[in-house]
Amino acid sequence: MTDLVDTAADRSSTPADDREPLLRVEGLTKHFPVRVGAFGSAAVVRAVNGVDFDVRPGETLGLVGESGCGKTTTGRMLVRLLDSTDGKIVFEGQDITRAKGKQLRRLRQDMQIIFQDPYASLNPRHTVGRIVAMPLQVNGVNPPGGVKKRVQELLETVGLNPEHYNRYPHEFSGGQRQRIGIARALALRPKIIVADEPVSALDVSIQAQVINLLRRLQRDLDLAFVFIAHDLAVVRHFCERVAVMYLGKVVEIGTRQQIYENPAHPYTRALLSAVPDVTKLGPAGRIKLEGDVPSPINPPSGCVFRTRCWKAQDKCANEVPPLVPKPNGSTAACHFPEQGGLI
Ligand code: ATP
Repeated sequence: MTDLVDTAADRSSTPADDREPLLRVEGLTKHFPVRVGAFGSAAVVRAVNGVDFDVRPGETLGLVGESGCGKTTTGRMLVRLLDSTDGKIVFEGQDITRAKGKQLRRLRQDMQIIFQDPYASLNPRHTVGRIVAMPLQVNGVNPPGGVKKRVQELLETVGLNPEHYNRYPHEFSGGQRQRIGIARALALRPKIIVADEPVSALDVSIQAQVINLLRRLQRDLDLAFVFIAHDLAVVRHFCERVAVMYLGKVVEIGTRQQIYENPAHPYTRALLSAVPDVTKLGPAGRIKLEGDVPSPINPPSGCVFRTRCWKAQDKCANEVPPLVPKPNGSTAACHFPEQGGLI
C-alpha cells in the first residue's frame, strides 16, 4: 500500500465530533438459527451480539477483526439487506430498523454497499452502461441530460473511459470491475457507503489505486464510509475511526491514532502485533494469539476474548466488561486494559 497518499493521519486528529451522527446503531444483534450435530439439534449462531457505534457525515469508520467476528453481517444489517434480530438502526435521526416499502426505497438511495468480489457482484450478461444505470432505473430517477449522460459522468468519476459504456464486465480488469461497482454505488448520490472488503480480492498494486479513488470520492462528495476489512494496513490508511470486533461484539472503538498507537484492548494489541509493518510493537513486543476464535454458537461467559487473553482473571469469566472510555481516549470492553502505547 505504499502508493497511498496518507491523509487519514491528518484527518484522524480532528474527527468531526461536533456533527450529529448520520448513522447510529444501538445493541445491534443478529442470531442465525441453525441445526448442529448428528441429530440436527437446534442452535443459534450469535453472529452479531449487541453492537453500538455511530458514523458522522463524511466520516470513515473501519470495522476490523478476524474472520467470522461478524463484520459482514453487521454491514448487511446497516444497509438493510439483512433484518436484525434485535437492536436499533437510526439514520439521520429516523429509526430505520424495520423500514419497509417507500421508506426502504428512499433509504436505498442514501445508503449503498460495495462488495468484495467485483466480478460476482456484476451481472456478466449486462453491459457496464446497464449495470451502472440500474439503480437510477429501479428508483425511477431521471437525471438532467438523461440516464446515459449520467452514467458516462459516473464512469468518468471513477476513472473509467465513458466510451466503454457498451462493454461487458469480463472485458475489464479486477480493479476496473471494482470501479464499475463503485460507479453503480454512486449513481443515486448516497450519503454513506458500506464497503465490505472492497480491495481484498485485488492485486496489491491495484489496491492502492482503488483506495485512493475511494478517498477522493469521500472528500469530494462528503461521503461517509463503513469500511470492512481484515487488513489493518488498509484500514489505517483510509479510516479516521476504527471499531475492533471480536465474536460478534465491538471490543474497542477509537480514533485511528488511539487504536494504532495506544490500544486499550488486548485483542486490538494482538491484532496489530500480527502486522508489524503497521506499527512499532513497543516494550511488550509481539503477541501471538493462541488457539482459534471460539464458536459463536457457544461464546465464552463474561469477556468473549478471555479464553485467548494472556491477562484473563476470574473476573473476566464472571463479568461482562462494559464498553467504556479508557485512559488512551478510546472506548473499550476490558477489565484489565493495556497501559502504555506501542510507539
Ligand atoms: P469474514 O471476514 O470471514 O467474512 P466476518 O467477520 O465478516 O467474517 P460474518 O460473515 O459476519 O463474519 O459471520 C459471523 C458469523 O456468523 C460466522 O460464524 C458465520 O459463520 C456466521 N454466519 C454468517 N451468516 C450466517 C448464516 N446465514 N447462517 C448461519 N451462520 C451464519
